Amino acid sequence: MIRRGSAIKSLFIVILISIFLANGAQAIDPIRQYQIDVVPIANPGTTMNVTEEVSRQIIAQVDLAFNDATDGQIRFTFRKLHPISFPDTATLSSGDIQKVTGLIPVADPGFDKAILVGVIANTSAAKFGGEAILGGNYIMMNGYWTLNSIGPGILAHELGHSLGISHANSAVCTTQLPIVCEQSEYGDFSSVMGTYTSKYVTNPLISRFSATELDELKVLPKESKAIAAESGDYKVAPAYSKGISLPKVLYIPIGSELTYSVEYRPAIGKDSGLSMSQLQVPGINSFYPNTPSHGLQLRMLPTVGTQFKDSQPTFSNYKINGTALIVSAFKADQVQPIGKVFTLSDGSTITFLSGDPNTGATVRVQRSLDKEPPIVSELRPRWITKQWIDYYPGRGNIFKNSLNEWDYPIAEIPLDAITDNTLIKTIQVEVNGQIVEQIDQPMLNGIESYTFKSTKPDTFTFRLIGTDYAGLSTSTTTASLTSTYFQIRTPYTQIESGKDPRTSLTLIVSSSSEKTKYVLENLSSGKIASIVESNGEIEYTITNLTRNQQFTALLSGRDDLGYTDGGTEIIYEPDTTECTNKQCYVGFQWNVDTGFWATGAGNMTLQERIGTKWINIQTAKPVADPKGAMKNYVTYLMKINHKTPGKHIYRLSIAASKKYSGQITSTFTQVVSTP
Ligand SMILES: [Zn+2]
Repeated sequence: MIRRGSAIKSLFIVILISIFLANGAQAIDPIRQYQIDVVPIANPGTTMNVTEEVSRQIIAQVDLAFNDATDGQIRFTFRKLHPISFPDTATLSSGDIQKVTGLIPVADPGFDKAILVGVIANTSAAKFGGEAILGGNYIMMNGYWTLNSIGPGILAHELGHSLGISHANSAVCTTQLPIVCEQSEYGDFSSVMGTYTSKYVTNPLISRFSATELDELKVLPKESKAIAAESGDYKVAPAYSKGISLPKVLYIPIGSELTYSVEYRPAIGKDSGLSMSQLQVPGINSFYPNTPSHGLQLRMLPTVGTQFKDSQPTFSNYKINGTALIVSAFKADQVQPIGKVFTLSDGSTITFLSGDPNTGATVRVQRSLDKEPPIVSELRPRWITKQWIDYYPGRGNIFKNSLNEWDYPIAEIPLDAITDNTLIKTIQVEVNGQIVEQIDQPMLNGIESYTFKSTKPDTFTFRLIGTDYAGLSTSTTTASLTSTYFQIRTPYTQIESGKDPRTSLTLIVSSSSEKTKYVLENLSSGKIASIVESNGEIEYTITNLTRNQQFTALLSGRDDLGYTDGGTEIIYEPDTTECTNKQCYVGFQWNVDTGFWATGAGNMTLQERIGTKWINIQTAKPVADPKGAMKNYVTYLMKINHKTPGKHIYRLSIAASKKYSGQITSTFTQVVSTP
């Protein structure tokens, strides 16, 4: 029994974990150890008599069964019996165990998971023998907490759910296209996830799964799996054989999904009971009726069929999330004869050619003709490593591991951007036009994405090229990701004029963080006269700026980890420096301020007093105001360039004209200095 309510959510968690394992940690200990705790739950009106000894023995029996079924890779250990819990109302669901007992099973170091089994007195109010959440940590047992009962078999089934597998069903399908199937839940009589559980009550317990389920439990090594993407004869070893170097499960992919599986389950050894129509209850002279279920087996697997629905099987009743053994009729023996031919949903066929418990079985796969190249959807690479620090977002940022080491981001490129009506054989990964990786059979190998480790700041352009088993190729469009060195925020800066706005400035820096240290460098001119810090503000006074020239400098921030802010460019336009009649600079042009005079005035001469004499320096004729403003007046244009500093005394002398007599202005002193 499985609780449907939480199944989807739990399954999702299991899928996430399996992706992680597929991509990375494979070298870990393959043996998975699980701890089992037991809590008796005395519902109102019931009494419980659960002992530690019986609990230990039941778990030991289930452990032996899993040890046998998974070749020692999944083991269970009884940890403790909790005191009886007395809920106020009847507790009938594994989903309520935590609420009524307050117990949360937490695995000890070295164990993969802890599972809490709640045991209630058998009641017809609960319509199950046992119940669990897919991938969960809680199991409810409806009584049967004794060794010589169906209890251990039920617990094995529920533990299958806890480990993420659904029911083993059966299916009756049409024999010609389109393939439409009817399913029967629990209908598979050869799996503990089907009806095997309540029939094969043996001591020691046998709780076996199909090889397909063993693969779901991740206990099959890679060489025990094969994929029939192409036509041919394929061999499979008996699911529970040892020493036959053949695959134990053969997948037939359709639409890039593992749609069917074939395996061989001869009724030999511990599987002998698979062929019997009656099974004895140990210890008493009583028999259970059984449906024989063995030999070569064809199963349907749960598929999504998103892009290739038309080539996937459809269901006339409902689709069950588990494997479905294809049978000829629901009431009939589940044994398919040698020579049997199955038509699969995409028009491929499978023929059971031979079966030998000692050497394996052979099936012939005839794939339907494939003329369709792979199809693509949008490629969506994404950075998966650290995205931000403190409050700074940083998708694709290169962060620091330490003071001297940058940590380049890792991108994940999902491979499902490319798919095929049958199966992708290889996916080539192209980065910046170069093929950097070829991934063979990504589906079979459980590789869902390509992990790209960047090593420098750059824009990385990705593309996938997929090739199917017919040799047809398609490539995705490109998609890019950019990585950059992480930078702290630049500070707020403010520039004000200094004491002399023509040659000085004040820069006020509001520090972005007290960890940040600033350096002002690359000054285009001038010098730092002072640096004053207070209240997170730094005030730089810069003097001696080159006149009439834009000032630039670079303000760089760096924090204690060595992150920089990329620098802030400081720009200042000093007030213009001009020569006047009073003040001038060596190398600057002095446009003599000659004033405006009445039209008809005579020529003007600039005179300088040298010693006691007035010396003519420059003479100009009257002209109209070049700016056109003073229409009724004239002016004089004179330009002087001083080559040395000094002090000059001038006057302006206007010659007499027809209209006016001559005139001399008052003297003025001009100081010429070095700029
Ligand atoms: Zn179940």
